[in-house]
Amino acid sequence: MDRYIELTGARRNSIVLIDRVGQWIWHRNGFVAGNTRYRCSSYTERRCRASVVRDLHGIYHAYGHHNHEIHQALISRHTFVEWCRERARTTNIRPHAIYLEALRRFPGPPPCQFQEIRATIYRARRETNPRIPVSPEEFAELIESVPRYK
Ligand SMILES: [Zn+2]
Repeated sequence: MDRYIELTGARRNSIVLIDRVGQWIWHRNGFVAGNTRYRCSSYTERRCRASVVRDLHGIYHAYGHHNHEIHQALISRHTFVEWCRERARTTNIRPHAIYLEALRRFPGPPPCQFQEIRATIYRARRETNPRIPVSPEEFAELIESVPRYK
């Protein structure tokens, strides 16, 4: 397991970095001389000054101290949602059954309600189901492009 994982954030062009060991969430806020800089996601709310820099070799360096609790609850929620999305992409299990399965897999209080992630699971499910071709050319192209048809 990699300690740091980078994900696309909710806002356009936003990148979120998760430290799965330290349990912090970071937001990318720029590049300086080949280094990628991230600041703590609590920067705006708590004025937290902690930061992370990924150097040219892909090594992460953490700076400063946080002035708040770890982001454990948010990371648990993220892990839960990602697991559901992956399940939707790779199986044909109904979305609500996936949610129930996730609740059993991640014991403790539910990190979110089904209603909150319903749309996310359905979107992941649609990503896996290829579009319906409208012409013979498109059909041929689809056959070529989707590994499971080969
Ligand atoms: Zn912080």
